[in-house]
Amino acid sequence: MRRAPAPPEIVEIASPNHGPRRGVAAPNMILIHYTNMSSAALALARLCNPAAEVSAHYLIDETGGTFRMVSEMRRAWHAGVAAWGPVEDVNSHSIGIELANPGPEAGLPPFPEAQLDALERLLFAVRLRWAIPPARVLGHSDVAVGRKIDPGEKFPWQRLARAGHAIWSQAEAPDPAPFLPPETLLGVHALKLGYRWQETEAGFADLVRALQMRFAPDETGAPASHRLAARVAEMAGRFPVADGERRSSYAPPGPSGRVHVSAPRPGEEDGGFDPDFDLDTE
Ligand SMILES: [Zn+2]
Repeated sequence: MRRAPAPPEIVEIASPNHGPRRGVAAPNMILIHYTNMSSAALALARLCNPAAEVSAHYLIDETGGTFRMVSEMRRAWHAGVAAWGPVEDVNSHSIGIELANPGPEAGLPPFPEAQLDALERLLFAVRLRWAIPPARVLGHSDVAVGRKIDPGEKFPWQRLARAGHAIWSQAEAPDPAPFLPPETLLGVHALKLGYRWQETEAGFADLVRALQMRFAPDETGAPASHRLAARVAEMAGRFPVADGERRSSYAPPGPSGRVHVSAPRPGEEDGGFDPDFDLDTE
């Protein structure tokens, strides 16, 4: 049996940017982000600035320093317009963790060991507290396909899965190659896993990129491969999103049934809507 790692030491820095969770009492998913800002200090300032209207529950700096800005009981504002399976108010359902990283414009430097170690220890504590399964530890890019690309292709999902905190597939391309092109069933399997995207040519390209960053990061930007399709199919078979959703509120899709991501309804309590931007604004 795995020994529980010591939780990271946490520095409390209160952000005013939060509200009550809606339609759900407890978080049931965890979202991982990178800050896309030049320093952790600037990110911390922004996440605590009422004018910015963004926040997260945690920020982990490059040295592993861990800051809590919003109580886990409260709804932080980190996901923006996002959806996973039937959940469309991702902020109400999730805990948001920001990793300080200057992002693609700075060449997306690798996440330092100390930062990843602190993340794993934090995940251990948070997942134990709320009984959040590994399949519900996700990246921002998983729930905001085409809009967000963090935590990016350098984020070590495989390592996280090895530690029990995420899902990962080792599947390789079948040999001989299947008769169908790899794209054919990719959308269906992704939907079963929880992904939502726009059913257009561009929307499908966005989905392929999101799936690559998550399950075949070495293929990011390449055409969809049989290996990627095999991995997504395996994960969808083992972790269909509906299994984790029975306690969640369900919002039916719009009348057309074709648009997979809907905008949040403005004017709800707690001052607000989720701004359509966050720290990692493109
Ligand atoms: Zn993000």
